Amino acid sequence: MTDLDEYRDQARAWLAERTADLPPDPGLAESRAFMADLYDAGHVGITWPAEYGGRGLSAAEERAFQQAAAGFTLPVGVFGIGLGMCGPTLLSLGTEEQKRRYIRPLLRGEEIWCQMFSEPGAGSDVASLQTRAVLDGDHWVVDGQKVWTSVARQADFGLLIARTDPDVPKHQGITMFVVDMHAPGVDVRPLRDMTGESHFNEIFFTSVRVPVENVVGEVNGGWSAAVTTLLHERVSIGMGAARTERPASFAALRKAARERGLLGEPGVTDLLLDLYLQERAFDLLNARMSQEVKAGIMPGARGSVAKLLLADLTLAGADVASEILGPESVTGDGPVPRALAWAPGMALGGGTNEIMRNIIGDRVLGLPREPQLDRNIPFKALKVGTQAKEDGE
Ligand SMILES: Cc1cc2nc3c(=O)[nH]c(=O)nc-3n(C[C@H](O)[C@H](O)[C@H](O)COP(=O)(O)OP(=O)(O)OC[C@H]3O[C@@H](n4cnc5c(N)ncnc54)[C@H](O)[C@@H]3O)c2cc1C
Repeated sequence: MTDLDEYRDQARAWLAERTADLPPDPGLAESRAFMADLYDAGHVGITWPAEYGGRGLSAAEERAFQQAAAGFTLPVGVFGIGLGMCGPTLLSLGTEEQKRRYIRPLLRGEEIWCQMFSEPGAGSDVASLQTRAVLDGDHWVVDGQKVWTSVARQADFGLLIARTDPDVPKHQGITMFVVDMHAPGVDVRPLRDMTGESHFNEIFFTSVRVPVENVVGEVNGGWSAAVTTLLHERVSIGMGAARTERPASFAALRKAARERGLLGEPGVTDLLLDLYLQERAFDLLNARMSQEVKAGIMPGARGSVAKLLLADLTLAGADVASEILGPESVTGDGPVPRALAWAPGMALGGGTNEIMRNIIGDRVLGLPREPQLDRNIPFKALKVGTQAKEDGE
């Protein structure tokens, strides 16, 4: 038995013991306690640099842990944005002080993170954002509004992008900040979604003072910082989903069809077969990308392919579930109705399907770029919220 086999077995045994007593729907306190134990046992941040609290191990150990964790449902969803997007952004662009201050508590689940990009008038075109940050001595003063911010209610910190220079074109006058979500002037209001729960929120900023040392990357260099976060986001959404049990998966729906005596019905076989093919394509692409990430090769714009496949797969699973289960698929509070209510959001969160197609066409396939007529016009000359005209009015 190799060291890796031993590590995998130990991790599996640890997970079996630690998850045995978890309640079916763990709350925030249980999730935090679980994450702290997972970290203390050495199973979080396996490949992250040891000097900031990671374990500094190789991709092989990370892979062994993922194999050990397959089949367990871990209550770690609330930490996903920190682990998948904010932490990697700070590791890429943060100062030494930022990495020393934030990475370890993020990995241990002591501090939860959110990502504050979207605004009521800036979603797909996030560079049209209007939240402002104005320098006042050794602080930036933030005023504005964000929306659709996942886990903002639970978050202790967030990565915010705000306009710091309205006199330059919209992509050039943006800066990224670490914002303390408990600071005076930060008002988080939950939004109820179709699941009946509040997974995301709107946030109002009124004269929120952010220390200058909280700038991430360069002042007015926030667009490329945001792109870094979004690239991590698309890869981590895909990989996170690849590791999560899907209630409307091929295996679960084949079992449901068998229990109902529907397996073998021609229509049902076709539906299941299509779902299986989509699932395999998605899983194989993710396996390949996760090997690449662990080998230090970032998938870049190809992360959008995984994100698009996941959105299509999620909706296909929802369709097959409703065919096989009928009204049962949308009534009650079980995992399938919840997954179905959540499914349409997959085609929006992390960038819509149309935007993913634009990115794939432009940056993966080398097709002509979408015209961006407002790209070189100073932000304050634009009528934000309306399409800029060719003549720059
Ligand atoms: C579950 C979920 C979680 C989210 N979590 C977060 C979060 O934590 N932080 C955060 O900042 N945001 C978050 N969002 C917001 C998400 O990033 C935006 O909803 C998304 O970027 C789309 O923006 P929008 O809703 O303003 O739609 P719009 O940008 O207004 O788009 C409306 C429609 O127009 C289409 N469209 C727009 N531009 C183009 C184009 N150029 N070409 C073709 N079609 C186009 C879109 O595809 C869409 O169908 C979340 C959203 C969801 C659903």
